[in-house]
Amino acid sequence: MKREIVEELKGIVGEQHVCTSYEDLYCYTYDSSSVEVDLKKDFPGVVVFPASAEEISAILKLANREKIPVIPRGAGSNVSGGSVSVGDCIVMVLQRLNRILEIDTKNLVAVVEAGVITAQLQQEVEKLGLFYPPDPASLAYSTMGGNVAECAGGPRGVKYGVTRDYVLGLEVVLPTGEIINTGGRTMKNVTGYNMTQLFTGCEGTLGVITKITVKLLPLPEGKKTMMAVFSEIEQASEAVSEIIAGGIIPTTLELMDNLFIRNVEEYAHVGLPVDADALLLIEVDGDKEALDRQIGRIEEVCRSQGAVQVRVAGDEKEAAELWKARRASFAAVSRVRPTIIGEDATVPRSAIPEMVRRIREIAAKYRITIGILGHAGDGNLHATILTDERDREEMARVEKAVDEIFMATLELQGTLSGEHGIGRAKSKFIELQLGKEGLEVQRRIKQTLDPNNILNPGVMFGEAG
Ligand SMILES: Cc1cc2nc3c(=O)[nH]c(=O)nc-3n(C[C@H](O)[C@H](O)[C@H](O)COP(=O)(O)OP(=O)(O)OC[C@H]3O[C@@H](n4cnc5c(N)ncnc54)[C@H](O)[C@@H]3O)c2cc1C
Repeated sequence: MKREIVEELKGIVGEQHVCTSYEDLYCYTYDSSSVEVDLKKDFPGVVVFPASAEEISAILKLANREKIPVIPRGAGSNVSGGSVSVGDCIVMVLQRLNRILEIDTKNLVAVVEAGVITAQLQQEVEKLGLFYPPDPASLAYSTMGGNVAECAGGPRGVKYGVTRDYVLGLEVVLPTGEIINTGGRTMKNVTGYNMTQLFTGCEGTLGVITKITVKLLPLPEGKKTMMAVFSEIEQASEAVSEIIAGGIIPTTLELMDNLFIRNVEEYAHVGLPVDADALLLIEVDGDKEALDRQIGRIEEVCRSQGAVQVRVAGDEKEAAELWKARRASFAAVSRVRPTIIGEDATVPRSAIPEMVRRIREIAAKYRITIGILGHAGDGNLHATILTDERDREEMARVEKAVDEIFMATLELQGTLSGEHGIGRAKSKFIELQLGKEGLEVQRRIKQTLDPNNILNPGVMFGEAG
């Protein structure tokens, strides 16, 4: 990065908030995906830590003038290669925008800066008897800005939806430096195009989100967690379809296959049944009287589909242990092979049994290990490939398997990504789902807002921009 540019950046954010050493810059060449960066070509030029929309605006005006790529970054926990560096770019880390600005208990909304950690917002609103439902497994470290940019989801998505369903308004700095506000704090709002939803899930390609207004709900009175154990994964996936078809909407409905069960148990020791082919982890919430009724109906469905054991957590501690085990799943399998590729292709819920069957066939065909750990209740199966990126021959087979998983997903009327985004990892597939014309419209939106393609170039649209 040219010295004059670095000096100008120091003038905007202060010298102590600019990094240029090799060691510091190296940390921004990767995120939680397995997308590899060519260190010679795609090493960052500088990392900046702005603290306000005004500073971000000044940085983007500078970058736009000089046509320097800018990579916005929250915690870097995305798994689609959305925040890895590109050649001589400015990495813009948003963690200093970390204030919860307001919790409005009368209107049930909260206003936060983009760098606020999701779990912090949840803890603060819960102290007031309120509830912010989106719960990505990364909630302890991912940022609200990153969650909005990816439209993150989580186990509670079955009943409560995803981040998109809670974002009422945004403050966004456009790639050309203008600061705009979208939406507001009303529950209804149809003034103009729905720009709030356009920026939600845009993967940082259209603007830098600086402030977020979210909808809150009253905290449910109670919740119960149960685990249903199956000797065949087909039975578990049929049970998922049957629960949904029966009109029961649990808060969460998670599927874990034997690979995950064994590894999570070895790692977290919470008493998971290591011989089971699959288990469902289910939570219901609501009025205390309704909880037992819901649990009873779900147990009936699970048993009718062949569940060999149904365990209802006796107290909050036991329930918390089960969820801790679920959240530790990726860490648990990371010990098995060094490279974990977590796909999040998502299918309509009635197609879950067929998709599970196809994933297993693909794993056998290409002789690779694929675990299934998913938000099955919303069709988001998370086929998880355990591999080693240093083994070129195996990686070639993995690549073919991934292609087939995506083809199977689209054949079953699913989507390439339910929550992890397209990023750089899946950009080559995007046209398959959107079609030529559909993709062209999205490119035109990008060109209109970011005429010099400075913001996250390559994300979603690939090298062609
Ligand atoms: C163990 C683990 C479990 C996970 N579980 C889930 C899960 O259950 N559900 C789920 O949806 N995801 C999950 N993820 C993925 C990840 O945590 C989410 O995508 C999360 O929303 C990313 O937040 P972040 O702050 O880390 O953003 P980053 O990874 O830093 O950025 C994500 C993308 O958004 C852009 N961006 C970041 N901040 C902004 C901003 N303020 N304005 C504009 N663009 C911005 C970046 O350029 C990038 O393209 C998981 C990841 C891990 C490692």
